[in-house]
Order: sequence, then structure tokens, then C-alpha cells
Amino acid sequence: MNTPHLSLIGPLTALSEEERMFQAAAREFAEKEIRPHVETMDREGVFNYELIDKFFAQGFMGLSVAETYGGSGGTFFMAILAIEEFSRVDASAGVVIDVQNTLVNNALERWGSEAQKQKFLPRLVRDTVGAYALSEASAGSDAFSLAARAREDGDHFVLNGRKLWTTNAKEAGLFIVFANVDPELGYKGITAFLIERDTPGFSLGKKEDKLGIRASSTCELILEDCRVPREHLLGEVGQGYKVAIETLNEGRIGIGAQMTGLARGALEHAIVYAKERKQFGKPLAEFQAIQFQLARLATDLEAARLMTYNAARLKDARLPFLKEAAMAKYFCSQVAERVASECLEVYGGYGFTKDYPAEKYLRDSKIGKIYEGTSFMQLQTIAKLILA
Ligand SMILES: Cc1cc2nc3c(=O)[nH]c(=O)nc-3n(C[C@H](O)[C@H](O)[C@H](O)COP(=O)(O)OP(=O)(O)OC[C@H]3O[C@@H](n4cnc5c(N)ncnc54)[C@H](O)[C@@H]3O)c2cc1C
Repeated sequence: MNTPHLSLIGPLTALSEEERMFQAAAREFAEKEIRPHVETMDREGVFNYELIDKFFAQGFMGLSVAETYGGSGGTFFMAILAIEEFSRVDASAGVVIDVQNTLVNNALERWGSEAQKQKFLPRLVRDTVGAYALSEASAGSDAFSLAARAREDGDHFVLNGRKLWTTNAKEAGLFIVFANVDPELGYKGITAFLIERDTPGFSLGKKEDKLGIRASSTCELILEDCRVPREHLLGEVGQGYKVAIETLNEGRIGIGAQMTGLARGALEHAIVYAKERKQFGKPLAEFQAIQFQLARLATDLEAARLMTYNAARLKDARLPFLKEAAMAKYFCSQVAERVASECLEVYGGYGFTKDYPAEKYLRDSKIGKIYEGTSFMQLQTIAKLILA
């Protein structure tokens, strides 16, 4: 098998010098810049705009974009490292860079024309948040049953419909929007469009008030005779389903990283607490039951990280990764929920309050099983592949 980028076969968690330095920089950034805002952003349900400016300034919004377009020219794996480090501190921060890197930039790099890349990638790297709008009120797991329509009108397409659940929508300047040009063609009518925020006929609807990742904006998009120039077609007419499937296949690894980072953050906090909190005259960490609980969770976390890293390394090596990506997303979201839930119990009653971060980790963990394909949808993909 051809493995052009697989120059070294080593332990999955062994990082190159460049990756180690990058990981350390992402961790330091998350601690210094993100951590101080986490509680306020969660309480207010608003992402700090100045923080997003810093994501751009530090290159976190264009990690694997080629240097010719102003990006960092890194690997997909580096984006995964950054998502993990950010999510260890705040899963909302993790998903901001996840959507930008693994969905929006990725789709443009793969499907965009040279003119589109030159027009949009430098902006996405420099100052423009991107969003990815596939889901609708009645098109969730059944993602290709879109009601949004696109009609050709000379050198434009006219879009009508509503998209739901669009992450980053409040902050975004560029949206990848999927609509069907001919419902009779079924999924083969689905077409992807690049829509700038100020396009006439485009507006934001309701912003969701959520259980977790509260700082990450999730909004409805409204398309009312929204005129999109033909040159903003992403890929060809009727190829939108491919754009969606291929980017989401990769994006799932990002969610694996988000959930791995979240689980790490929850466990690290619980370990500190278990060493400090005393009952029956000694720290909780000295009770074997607590030790075993933490050891089991650390083992789960290790497995989650290995699955995520493996899927990302496979993708960078241009080897098949579809099954591994679905497995990573499925498994890591389970691990994140279990780790966050059991870590909360380590705090006893205090874990149930907002005085400690445990409850936020648990709230944030729930989304891992839902977006970019629910757990059942991951199982469907895995089953299809192993039974083929
Ligand atoms: C916070 C948040 C952010 C999001 N961000 C984005 C975004 O940026 N862009 C975007 O396009 N979408 C986004 N989504 C949408 C997300 O991808 C969908 O919510 C998800 O795909 C599930 O769709 P649904 O909510 O309609 O649930 P449904 O599809 O109605 O599913 C409900 C339940 O039924 C199960 N189910 C459905 N079909 C089957 C089946 N065939 N077999 C077995 N079980 C089944 C599901 O697993 C689930 O348990 C986001 C969602 C949330 C909550």
C-alpha cells in the first residue's frame, strides 16, 4: 500500500519535535488565554470575541491550510492536538477551532476552485469565522432530506429555506450551506454554496439556549430569496452530498479529539480534588475504591486518545480512515460522558454545584454523542463497513 506521509512507524502517542512544541504552545495558550474566560462564557452563553481574535493571531484558525493561502501549513493531526488541548480547558473553544479547521477550511481546500481558495482561505485564516450548515429541522440523522431549495437564475442561484443548529453562526462571516436544486433528484440534487454573511436574503434566526457548550453559538439560518453568485458554488451542482459526507467523515476525528480533551480536563481536576479532600482522616485518593475508579477512567481515556490519534494519523498518511473515524467519535463520546460523570461523583455534593468545574464537563460531554452524526449513526457506518 502506498503510504507517502508515513515516514516513521512508532507509538501512536509519540510526537515529533514539531508536534511536541506545537502541543505545548496550544496547552499554554489554552491555560493562559482561554481558562480565565471559561466560567463567564458558560454562564452568559456567549463566546468572547477578543478570544477569537487571539485564535486568529496565533494561527489556530488555519492550522492545516497551505502557507500559500496564509495558513500554518500543518497536518490534520496538529489540528487534532489543538482541539484536544483547547477542549481540555473548554469544549466550546474546542469546537470553534474544530469547525473552522476540520469542516470549513477542509471543505474549501478539497472542493474549492482556485479562485475560491484565493478569495476565502486567506480570510478564514486571518479574521473570518466559518460555519457549516447542513442540518435542518426535519433533516438531522436523515441529513440528505433537505427542504432548503436552490433555483438557478442566470448567473446566480436563489436559495430559500431554513437551516438549524449551525455552530459558530453568530460569529461567522462565511457559511457553507447545503440546499437541493431539484428534490426529484433526491440526494443527487444537493449542492453546496459559499454564502457571505452580508448576502441579501441571508439572516440569522433563533440562537439556541443549550445544556452544554453554552459559549459556542448554535443558530438557525434563514434564507429568503438569498442570491448567491454562481462562482460561489462549492464543487459542482449535485455534488453537495459528497462535499458533506467527505468533510463530516474527517470532522468526526475532531469530535473524538474534543471529547478526549474534555475527558482529560475532567480527570485532571478530579485527581487534584481527590488528593486534597479528606474524609475519615485521609485524602480521598488514599481509598482504594477511588484509586480504582480513577485508574479505570484513565484507562478509558488512554484508549480514546489512541483511537483519535490513530484515525488522524491514518488520514494524514492518506490511508483509509472512515471506520476508525466513526469508531473514535463513537467511543470518545462515550468515554467523555463516563469520565465526566464519574469524576463529578469524586467531588460528592460539591461536584453537583457550580463551584467546581465537574458539572460543566458533564454538561459539555453530552454533545459528543449528538452532533456530526449521533452514536447510532456512527454504529450504522461501522456496521456497514464490517459487514460489507
Ligand atoms: C449543539 C449542536 C451543534 C450542532 N452544530 C451543527 C452544525 O454546525 N452544522 C450542522 O449541519 N448541524 C449541526 N448540528 C446538528 C446535529 O448534527 C444533529 O442534531 C444530529 O445530526 C442529529 O439530528 P437530530 O437532532 O435531527 O436528531 P434525529 O435525527 O431526529 O435523531 C433523534 C434520535 O433518533 C435516532 N435515530 C435517527 N435515525 C435513526 C435510525 N435510522 N436508526 C436508529 N436511530 C436513529 C438518533 O440516533 C437520535 O438518538 C448541531 C447540533 C447541536 C445540538
